[in-house]
Amino acid sequence: MDVVLIGAGLSGLTAATVLRAGGAEVLVIDADRQIGGRIRAFRDTETNEALADLGPTWIWPKHQPIVANWLKRLGLETFSQFNGGDAVILGYGPAPFRQLLPGQDGIARLVGGPTAFIEALASRLDPGTVRTASPAVGIHEEGSGRIGVHLSSGEVLSAQRVIISMPLRVAAATVDMPWAPPELANVMRRTPTWMSTHAKAIALYDRPFWRDAGLSGRIASRTGPLVEAHDHSGPSGAPAAIFGFVGWPPEIRKRDPEGLRHAILNQLTECFGPAAAHPTNLMVQDWATNPNIVSEVDLSQPADHPDVGPAVLRQAHLGGRIRFAVSEVSGVSPGLIEGALAAGEQAAMRHLDLID
Ligand SMILES: Cc1cc2nc3c(=O)[nH]c(=O)nc-3n(C[C@H](O)[C@H](O)[C@H](O)COP(=O)(O)OP(=O)(O)OC[C@H]3O[C@@H](n4cnc5c(N)ncnc54)[C@H](O)[C@@H]3O)c2cc1C
Repeated sequence: MDVVLIGAGLSGLTAATVLRAGGAEVLVIDADRQIGGRIRAFRDTETNEALADLGPTWIWPKHQPIVANWLKRLGLETFSQFNGGDAVILGYGPAPFRQLLPGQDGIARLVGGPTAFIEALASRLDPGTVRTASPAVGIHEEGSGRIGVHLSSGEVLSAQRVIISMPLRVAAATVDMPWAPPELANVMRRTPTWMSTHAKAIALYDRPFWRDAGLSGRIASRTGPLVEAHDHSGPSGAPAAIFGFVGWPPEIRKRDPEGLRHAILNQLTECFGPAAAHPTNLMVQDWATNPNIVSEVDLSQPADHPDVGPAVLRQAHLGGRIRFAVSEVSGVSPGLIEGALAAGEQAAMRHLDLID
């Protein structure tokens, strides 16, 4: 094996695709039972169609050249975020009111959702390239000059090179890396994993009835439980959906999941009328409960958007044999889809000696 990649999210799969196209033998492992990392869809149980995004939704291809390039390369299509009509504003006055809100220009969504990226990249890899349910617990130098990736099962995968494409804080807490200098270990612990403490709620409906009333599906709220919400319907309005970010802190969400669902339905009904009380489905995806994404440090600190991190994250270690490729290490748009594509692409190209 030339390269083992630890993490089958967007960064790891992008790096694997670039390495494979460059002729390298690659193996991607992931701790989870499914690939995609923070990119995940709620799917129709019969057709497997992606109905709603449980992780990221938005891209900005007008302003994100790496996203634009990969859309073209993978043949993926986009459509504009729906924003026709008024938003409902809550908690900014004695009663809810409606108002046009700016700020959605250039926001695009992928046809099929961001899992279309994951599927398109995975389909370019040879069968058997990705192994799920295989958590790495150690990355050690082997006597032969190779690197051993130790799995929780006790198996050791031997590779010439390793790309660490898992969240930095999770790696710092769960993967033994005796070669990592203290500066690197410190930076890894200091780098938050974007959105790892958040929960996203999605309500699916038979039709986007809020549009009939001239409402955009957008909510801006100081009262919650959804602090903001948006129309999440498909390109032609189907499947109809609203998504929102939950403002309740992780420990309260965990303590009272039924209370949260009840409060979300009440809020949607207050904003969009009685029809909102009866979604065909209501999902709450709580990323703060996924130990492959969130760490104890993330949960104990305010979740700031990551800045571009120190250069040590983009440098090679152990004589060029180990690199990082997760969105947060990117020199552009860290934490975002653009950052994940950039981190994966650049780590792979550096391994192939195509860039410095
Ligand atoms: C709710 C939410 C909304 C978001 N919204 C947006 C948005 O609208 N636009 C945008 O640009 N970005 C958004 N983001 C951020 C975006 O999802 C991420 O930037 C991107 O998906 C990161 O991909 P990645 O491959 O770098 O990391 P990840 O997706 O975190 O992948 C890391 C992988 O490593 C695996 N792993 C962990 N530990 C181990 C181990 N020990 N061994 C093996 N594998 C391991 C994990 O299971 C995971 O699959 C959002 C994120 C969330 C959660």
